[in-house]
Amino acid sequence: LKKPYKWQRVLLKVSGEALAGDHAENIDPKITMAIAREVASVTKLGVEVAIVVGGGNIFRGASYAGCGGLDRSSADYIGMLATVMNAIFLQATMESIGIPTRVQTAFRMSEVAEPYIRRRAVRHLEKGRVVIFAAGTGNPFFTTDTAAALRCAENPKHNSNARLLETVSYHEVTSRDLSVMDMTAITLCQENNIPVVVFNLQKPGNIAKAIVGEKVGTFIGC
Ligand code: UDP
Repeated sequence: LKKPYKWQRVLLKVSGEALAGDHAENIDPKITMAIAREVASVTKLGVEVAIVVGGGNIFRGASYAGCGGLDRSSADYIGMLATVMNAIFLQATMESIGIPTRVQTAFRMSEVAEPYIRRRAVRHLEKGRVVIFAAGTGNPFFTTDTAAALRCAENPKHNSNARLLETVSYHEVTSRDLSVMDMTAITLCQENNIPVVVFNLQKPGNIAKAIVGEKVGTFIGC
């Protein structure tokens, strides 16, 4: 990883499917360990890392809405609870290799994790703790992509030395309907100038490279 690092604070979105890998169950411990190791390699360099975790490996609200009397909002709440399960698993794996980690949930589950408090999240990051944001935005009808964009917009840290690599513009993503993220999420990133890197999380080394701003996957900005 080459210095200087492009970003001082990054948010890694881990989709539920990425966590499942090819494991028969919903979560593959090899994947959580691979993520934890790569995150550790960059937090050691002083880069602040937050994570938004999805839940699609366990439950997607839209797929169940209308089934067995389940309305869309209730289905989405189940989906959000699924993200909390993933977050707790990921936290356990990270802490097992010595990465201090906090989980913050978008709605209260205070016996299990901290509630999301913006200033507290920033403080954790400044102290070198990884913060995992769970339960998405806390609202039905949204996705964890939008939660990721929202948390980035809320907790920015600008690096005046950062130079944007031109690859794909936000406009191209929306106008060509490139399905990297949902429209709400990409629009939120565009409005808040949040650069996005979309990459294959399962290729060893990619997470660390993406976090420190080395060229990997597709860069969306401008
Ligand atoms: N969800 C929600 N509001 C949010 C984030 C997530 O209702 O702000 C629900 C929704 O039902 C979604 C599920 O949680 O299908 C899992 O999240 P997502 O599909 O974003 O996970 P991923 O695709 O990253 O695995």
